[in-house]
This record gives sequence, structure tokens and C-alpha cells, in this order.
Amino acid sequence: MNTKQVKEVKSLLNKPKNIVIVTHWSPDGDAMGSSLGLYNYLIQKKHKVTVITPNDYPSFLFWLAGNNKVIDFSKKTKPAKTAVAKADLIFCLDFNSLKRIDSLGVEVAKSNAIKFMIDHHLQPEDFAQYMLHDIKACSTCELIYDFIKLMGDKKALNKNIANCLYTGIMTDTGSFRYPSTTSKTHRIIAELIDAGAENGDIHNRIYDGNTEGKIKLLGFSLSEKLTVMKDFKTAFFSLTAAELKKYNYQKGDTEGVVNYALSIEGIRFAAFFVERDGIIKTSFRSKGTFDVNLFARTHFTGGGHKNAAGGMSELTMEKTINKFVDLLPAYKKQLNSSK
Ligand code: 5GP
Ligand code: MN
Repeated sequence: MNTKQVKEVKSLLNKPKNIVIVTHWSPDGDAMGSSLGLYNYLIQKKHKVTVITPNDYPSFLFWLAGNNKVIDFSKKTKPAKTAVAKADLIFCLDFNSLKRIDSLGVEVAKSNAIKFMIDHHLQPEDFAQYMLHDIKACSTCELIYDFIKLMGDKKALNKNIANCLYTGIMTDTGSFRYPSTTSKTHRIIAELIDAGAENGDIHNRIYDGNTEGKIKLLGFSLSEKLTVMKDFKTAFFSLTAAELKKYNYQKGDTEGVVNYALSIEGIRFAAFFVERDGIIKTSFRSKGTFDVNLFARTHFTGGGHKNAAGGMSELTMEKTINKFVDLLPAYKKQLNSSK
């Protein structure tokens, strides 16, 4: 956003508006933290704000302030459509292609509202009049903090906003350990704590609410399903719908498990395949120069960041895994030199 655009957006937000906030399919901590962080900021400015998700999200995010007002498009399609149709302004957070919000994207594309994308993923598509886009930002929550500051409203940061933004920064940086974490990230975190973010409690609420099933599913995945291919510095595992059912799977139970495969010494590329909603959802992670965004885009109709990306496959689980394993030799050199 240049200075002229900042001025335009400031004047847009000067009078109460109908605002819709949408975020990506299967929202994570950053998606919900940024959406509800922005929600809690905009309601202070007397706007009428509706947060819409394309589908449901993990219960460990339900404590975020404003969560009870969120509309799930897949369950409450009619009120969600009405809110989008009435909107003067639509914020698109933590995604940059309307495909990422599934059929909700059709409604957003149809709407005459001014669109504003705030995002940190690679290769943004051109559908918004305003963009606050930075692939160097550790999270969309970091950009929401920047946005509030750009609007000259740093004083508006309160406990609710601070808790939401802390959550997204914490989850998208793997608790401040990925290379995307900068001194700026830590400075923002310090300010959020000063504004009331309950940092210790947030870690507990997000990471220590595990069910017995989730922990046993993790144990099963690691002991029975993990394949390590040392020649390719690759490790992967998969879970079928039947395996999820056996461990009483709840939304969010497999979030982050791919990182266990990446944590093995010498591994530079990790993948996780899970059968969900009749398709195979893929998660890719890498260390160093190996570009999983490109890999996901090229082979699994996905995308994301250089070291963390996702995608999908409509093949069976067995065929998806065979496809993945068959691709590895072509990447052997890249994988072995990924520093
Ligand atoms: P995860 O593996 O945790 O689902 O996603 C890792 C990263 O890739 C996240 O930043 C997420 O937004 C992105 N991502 C996951 N799935 C997809 C997808 O199907 N398409 C695109 N473009 N990005 C994805
Ligand atoms: Mn994010």
C-alpha cells in the first residue's frame, strides 16, 4: 500500500461500513487470529463486521474473542451470502487466490464491494483493489498489526486484538522458531504482550488441549506409518479416513504432525498425506533451499510458502503416494544440496 492508498483506506474506514472478513479453507491459527484480530479492531471503529470461514476449524481456536459471531459458509450459506452481498468492503485474509475459499469465492467475485487482500503467501492473484502483501511477513497477523499501525490506530490495540494476533504469529512461526521469525516479529510480540496478550495462557490453550485420541493417533502415525528415504533426504507418512476414525479424529488433530518427519536429522523434505472429505490433502515442509511451494504448485494443485505448502490429490491414497515417491528421483540433486 502506498501513501495515497493508506489515505484512501483511512477515509473509507472513517464512516461506519458493512464489512466482511473472509479467510482460507480449513482455517488455522493465523487465519482465525488475523480475521478476529481485525474484527475486534473494526468493531471498535463502529463498523458492522461479519467474519465468514469457508468451512469449520479446530476447537482449540474457539476461545478467540468474537469466535461466537463467525459464520461457517458450508453450514450457514444463506446468511453468509447475504452478508457478502451487502458488504461495502471485503477483507481477504491469509490467502491470495479465490480458489482457496472454494464456493465462497464465487460470492466474493460477484460482489461489488471494495476488496482488500492482506496476505503473506507467494504469487498473489490480482482480484483486490487494495493489497497489504509481504512474503517476508511471518504471518498475516503480523500484517494486521502493520495495518492497524498504518491506520494510525496503535492505541486501539486491546487485550482481545493482542490475544488474536499473538495466536497467529505464534502458530505460523512454529512458536517463534521458523526462519520467517525476525527481530520485528519479536518487537511486535513485545508490544502485544504490553497491550494485554496472555502469552503463557495462549500456549496452553493452543497446544495443551489435546485429546487422548489425538496423542494416540500421533503415536500410531510415527511408529507405524512413517517412511524415511535417506537417499532423498525425505520422510513422509499418511493417514486414511479409516485410521482417523479409529482414533476418534477431530478437526485440527493432524495439524503440525508433518513437522515430526522434518525434525529427523538430515531430513530436508517432509510430506504428509491425509484422506479427508473424499480427497487426499497434502502437506509439504522443507528445510533450506528446496522449494515446496513450487513442488506443490507443479504436482499437487497447491501452493503456500517456500518451506511450507499444501495441496491435494484426487487419486487414491496408494496412487498419491506412488506419484510422490516416483517424483523424488527428479529432485534428488536439489534435495541433496538443500542447505
Ligand atoms: P498446511 O500444510 O499446514 O495445510 O499448509 C501449509 C501452507 O500452505 C499454509 O500457508 C497454507 O495456507 C498453504 N496451503 C495449504 N494447502 C494449500 C492449497 O491447497 N493451496 C494453496 N495455494 N496453499 C495451500
Ligand atoms: Mn498464515
